[in-house]
Amino acid sequence: MKIPLVDLKVQYQTIKKEIDKAIFGVIESSQFVLGENLEKFEQEFAKFCEAKYAVGVGNGTDAIYLILRALNIGEGDEVIIPVNTFIATAEPLNMVGAKPVFVDIDPETFNINVNKIEKAITKKTKAVIPVHLYGQSADMTPILKIARKNKLVVIEDAAQAHGARYKGKRVGSIGEVSIFSFFPAKNLGAYGDAGMVVTNKRKIAEKIFALRDHGRREKKKNQYVHRIEGINSRLDEIQAAILRVKLRHLEKWNKARRKHAKTYDLFFKKIDKITVPKIKSVCESVYYMYVIRVKNRDLLRNKLKEVGISTGIHYPIPLHLQPAFKRFGYKKGDFPEAEKAAEEILSLPMYPELTVSQIKFITTSIQKIIEKE
Ligand SMILES: *Cc1c(COP(=O)(O)O)cnc(C)c1O
Repeated sequence: MKIPLVDLKVQYQTIKKEIDKAIFGVIESSQFVLGENLEKFEQEFAKFCEAKYAVGVGNGTDAIYLILRALNIGEGDEVIIPVNTFIATAEPLNMVGAKPVFVDIDPETFNINVNKIEKAITKKTKAVIPVHLYGQSADMTPILKIARKNKLVVIEDAAQAHGARYKGKRVGSIGEVSIFSFFPAKNLGAYGDAGMVVTNKRKIAEKIFALRDHGRREKKKNQYVHRIEGINSRLDEIQAAILRVKLRHLEKWNKARRKHAKTYDLFFKKIDKITVPKIKSVCESVYYMYVIRVKNRDLLRNKLKEVGISTGIHYPIPLHLQPAFKRFGYKKGDFPEAEKAAEEILSLPMYPELTVSQIKFITTSIQKIIEKE
């Protein structure tokens, strides 16, 4: 049985009629950029996040860049981020001349270790970007407290957590401002690139609206008045139309992911050598990834591949050891929990359309492999 890590083709088949209609509707209207679909999607996504404003942008990486610009974070400033995340959390800092300062992870949740944030703060620190990794919220209460005490802005990286909750609140509405990515494989994925900035602060939203569209805000009249220098990073109409369709299914899809996670949990709890993901009692995860810990990870991964089961590693190299960040002078041993996790984590197939028989095949295959070791 062939089982991919995520299966976007099977999802398309379940919503094909709606999607095709949405795409052709845009082509027929021939309003391709900054039209009705984006405006509506921004309202609908803000509502979904239980926040006031949402601003569609080109992708999640741009969303972080635009926020840094809007907050005037730049040359010489430092921003604290977890060391186990996708590189996109860190890259935009270089785009504005700021520097990432990494913090180790909590080995149970894989999210930023809140007890290690204060030690990383210097006079230059301007912000902290907690990442809601694998679909579970970072521990926001202590983060907000530390930020308030040290006058830091909290920027949530919710790229992997559309719909997740922390103490009942939707992620993306907890910090000052947040980002979402609609990369195709995310819980809410476009058919191409797209991203969003979400905030309750009108001033920040207004600034992002202008920055994403060459520094202008008024649409038709004053088309060539540019109040500030911006960039071109707009969420296009075809993607917005697709995302509006998919947003209507998201709660159901996230629920299916949680159900699959529960099935995995129950099975793996019987296997000593496997550590299942720990979800804090104050969190409701949307399981972007289902990540286990296991000692002989690479062996298990290869054997699963042999029987047709794809798995992933998110992420194999912590950011401080990435060749791209060599200039910051970090070395092996600086973040022991993230380094240890990088050797043991394994992401199993996780998508809403997984079937009971697929999950059974995955779990029993893993059991067989582990018992033979
Ligand atoms: C996907 C992702 C992003 C942004 O990705 P884009 O591909 O630019 O939309 C940012 N942070 C994290 C943690 C991500 O997983």
